Amino acid sequence: MRKTLKILGATGSIGTHAIEVLEEFVDDLELIALSFGYNVKKAEEILNKFSPPYIASLKREDVMYLKGKFPFIKEVFWGERGIEELALIDTDIALVGISGAEAIVPTIRTFDSSHRIALANKESIVMAGHILNRLKYEKEIELIPVDSEHSAIFQSLVGERREDVKKIILTASGGPFRNTPKDRLKYVKPRDALKHPVWHMGKKVTIDSSTLANKGLEIIEAVFLFEISPDMVDVIIHPQSIIHSMVEFQDHSVKAQLGVPSMKLPIQYAFFYPYRKRATVESLSLFGQTLEFYLPDEERFPALSLAKEALRWGGTMTTIYNRANEEAVRLFLEERIGFLDIPIIIEKEMEAHKKSIIKNPSLSEILDIDREIKEKIEKTYG
Ligand code: MG
Repeated sequence: MRKTLKILGATGSIGTHAIEVLEEFVDDLELIALSFGYNVKKAEEILNKFSPPYIASLKREDVMYLKGKFPFIKEVFWGERGIEELALIDTDIALVGISGAEAIVPTIRTFDSSHRIALANKESIVMAGHILNRLKYEKEIELIPVDSEHSAIFQSLVGERREDVKKIILTASGGPFRNTPKDRLKYVKPRDALKHPVWHMGKKVTIDSSTLANKGLEIIEAVFLFEISPDMVDVIIHPQSIIHSMVEFQDHSVKAQLGVPSMKLPIQYAFFYPYRKRATVESLSLFGQTLEFYLPDEERFPALSLAKEALRWGGTMTTIYNRANEEAVRLFLEERIGFLDIPIIIEKEMEAHKKSIIKNPSLSEILDIDREIKEKIEKTYG
């Protein structure tokens, strides 16, 4: 029996890799529903290959055009609401590949419509990890991380008891400015930051990799996903990105997951866990490779220590960290602020929020604070 699948964010970087995986496993998986933002051309290509009866996009005219073209489409949805409605379509598996904080409501909706959630979106965990965990237990959901580091940790934890874990070691590529001196960082332009040496990803996560905010978000993500304390997470720079992350146990044994850097592997694993299917990526060859490891420079990349601080404050502070970063990245991409302003904005907004933190916030409280901070940053720097 084929498992049914929906993909939220089908035309983005994660979605594109997922479609490549899907093409190899048409006998195992059936695409029932997909959502996309604005890339109607790419959506059309996907619809030409698969015939999902339900689609959603941010623009009404795009889904109407596609409905007119493909008679197999039964129902279309549009706008942010439409994507939330599509997230409620029942499927065995939901892949959440939307990037950014906008994914939070659709992600939460998938807990009502799929037993397995393959989660690539990190912002929803960072903002509402406690809510996602509660829903996971209440509704008996298999929440499988698709972020490559967290997939590696998940894979290393299979068969292990949680109390036997001593620490989690997140690997980071270090991004394109790993060796750039601080006084040169201020001249960095978006086109420089968008050149990632190893991974090919969407724009937001590529900029986040260059500031190490991506690793900051991933620390927070790990704390919620694996329900461990923040001091149990270490970060190590590993430029080759071959070791995707590691777990150290109480007996000081370390387990790691290795592979070629491709998002297809964690996506495929999340679809088929606990089974391993035939490869859709090339075999890893370690011959002639040098694997390097360095300590991260938190002075040049303050986004990393700010993430740990956000975790220490807890509650809505991780929402502030996330949104301030997301807005700062947008302003940087629009060349309205400099590269080094990104962590400065995060720090400033966190400082301002210290007096009004809400511990254990509800979803509506998170969304309110998220909106407030977005508007505030737009007003200040826009
Ligand atoms: Mg990652």
